[in-house]
Amino acid sequence: MDVLERIDSYKKEMVSAMVKMIAIPAISPVSGGEGESKRADFLEDLLKKMGLEVKRFDYKDEFGKIRSNLIVEYGKAAQRIWILSHIDTVSPGDLSLWRHDPFDAYVKDGKIYGRGTNDDGQGVISSIFALKAVKESGVDPKFTFGIALVADEEVGNEYGIKKLLKEGVFSKKDLAVVPDWGRPKGDEIEIAEKGILWLKFRVVGKQVHASTPEQGLNAYRVSVKLLDLLDNALHKRFGKADPLFEPPKSTFEMTKHEKNVESVNIIPGTETFFMDCRVLPNYKLDNVVALVKNISKRVGRQTKARIYVEVVSRDEALKPLPKNAKIIQILQRSIKQVKHKEARLVGIGGGTVAKFLRRYGVESAVWSSQDDVAHQPNEYAVISNMVEDTKIFASMFV
Ligand SMILES: [Zn+2]
Repeated sequence: MDVLERIDSYKKEMVSAMVKMIAIPAISPVSGGEGESKRADFLEDLLKKMGLEVKRFDYKDEFGKIRSNLIVEYGKAAQRIWILSHIDTVSPGDLSLWRHDPFDAYVKDGKIYGRGTNDDGQGVISSIFALKAVKESGVDPKFTFGIALVADEEVGNEYGIKKLLKEGVFSKKDLAVVPDWGRPKGDEIEIAEKGILWLKFRVVGKQVHASTPEQGLNAYRVSVKLLDLLDNALHKRFGKADPLFEPPKSTFEMTKHEKNVESVNIIPGTETFFMDCRVLPNYKLDNVVALVKNISKRVGRQTKARIYVEVVSRDEALKPLPKNAKIIQILQRSIKQVKHKEARLVGIGGGTVAKFLRRYGVESAVWSSQDDVAHQPNEYAVISNMVEDTKIFASMFV
């Protein structure tokens, strides 16, 4: 039996492993969960039963919870390719929107439903069973097969990839595939991510009764003016399109807005709101911040409001992976072999764990076949995608 046929024969076992894994929630303590330790116990056991050696990296977080990462390596080839997935999930959200218990995964119409089946359960299960197939077929893999199952992806990566990079788990010569984003047909490979900038604004005027606005300074009115100017200026000044990206332009969105006054008849004295900016790699985030600060200063001068701008979070974009990068070639070849499709290269506005690997120097592609259901109620993984992705991972090594 060749490696790919072998994977067809694993289908039931893969579904059952997924169902058992989903039954052990691995939600960040920041979101009220217990962390990844129990789920890691299950996965460690699964890997050991396959005769694999597992290295475990446990870290205690600020809540006293154990955050667990698992590392497996198989083969003796000089170059290593990692399949890196995360084992934590977001919380289920509003339970009334789920048709079924999110942690009691079930199969219907060729899909497995449950929180974390898609994000990132499919990656976890596919990587494990791809290695099982390579191992059981008895061939020496062309590349050392690395599986990294990391913690804490959904909230900050502090106890996951960031720690593992410090531990020296990865080498700059390594290659990686991160199956944590994808298109339904698995025909796009993500090679670039926009820079991400989060800004917080606080506009301070003077609170008064709504019947006497001339005695106060309406912070809401100033905010509306400011946002309108920012909206136009940012889109104009940073308005270039890059067809690699979806969407092709930088995005500047006003998002969160903190509650202001309790009553309709009070003019708000303070407004606090946020912007989420996703910026193409050809622009520097510093220049975005500078323009925002300039405009805010000008509006402050004109209106006499005090305007404070704070950078809450910033992550500069990296250069897109070169189109002839080795990992791209290997992955494209495998996708073609299994799916008979040419995979297109794209950039996205989202941020994945791949950016940490890329910044460190590990050539990393983000790819999987998945419907866009991450973080949603009734999240699911398509079983045929899971099996096919497993075949694609395995065929990279044989
Ligand atoms: Zn994810």
